[in-house]
Amino acid sequence: MRSNSQQVAELLTNELSPAPGWPIRSASEAWLGVLEVLAASLRSVRSKTTVTSTASSTPDSPLLDPRWCAAQSVEELAVELRRHRRRETHAAALRAVAHWWTNMVPPPLHETVDSGAAPGSGHTSGRMAHPPNTWRIELSQAEWRKFAELPGLSRGLAEELRLMLGAETFPFQRGVQRVGWRHGWFDEATDRDAAQHLLATIAAEGGVDRRELWSGLSEVAERWCGRQPDCDSCPLRGVLPARGPIPLGEE
Ligand code: SF4
Repeated sequence: MRSNSQQVAELLTNELSPAPGWPIRSASEAWLGVLEVLAASLRSVRSKTTVTSTASSTPDSPLLDPRWCAAQSVEELAVELRRHRRRETHAAALRAVAHWWTNMVPPPLHETVDSGAAPGSGHTSGRMAHPPNTWRIELSQAEWRKFAELPGLSRGLAEELRLMLGAETFPFQRGVQRVGWRHGWFDEATDRDAAQHLLATIAAEGGVDRRELWSGLSEVAERWCGRQPDCDSCPLRGVLPARGPIPLGEE
């Protein structure tokens, strides 16, 4: 019998439009994810959560090269972001992260993870890990703390970026909270760490990369699970509690 986690993963995978950028398999795809978090497209509904929209909307942009981004001034970056109709609010943070990237992520940028490669196999410098079918960067807690202190990064942005880079985290924004509360996965009294652990467990049990689960839940929250939930057309209607969505405190 399928678990609830597997059902959630299947519904999100089967009913949302394809997002072939998931799971992230290379450093270049992770950089696209960074761009989506810090410079979402102004054109796409899914821009914040769909890695591939960056590639399709900026096919010839130097923004796709973190070393180019690191070498620009904030003003020059903002000009390029405007040229591609992307949000420029976080141009300073994008420059700081690009600078960090050039120091922490060894070339070649476009290396693709070999699903059969073992961690530390010498496939790249020892800093990169190669779990099957995913790409991530291995950092110590002290290094992640330094990352979170980069200029212009709020706690929420830093968490989203850490996830994009493969860290063991699960961003816990309001939209994802709403989905979890209404389905009874946790409630408003559940502390952040426990809720994040539960979401990570859903990803593991559902057999999906946690980045993919986060992307799907974020899209569901944005398109269907606002202040007034539109359950009839939502992909997750099949895993609602028997009596329907659990009302939030303010409802
Ligand atoms: S089924 Fe309803 S409560 Fe569940 S995520 Fe969709 S809109 Fe929200």
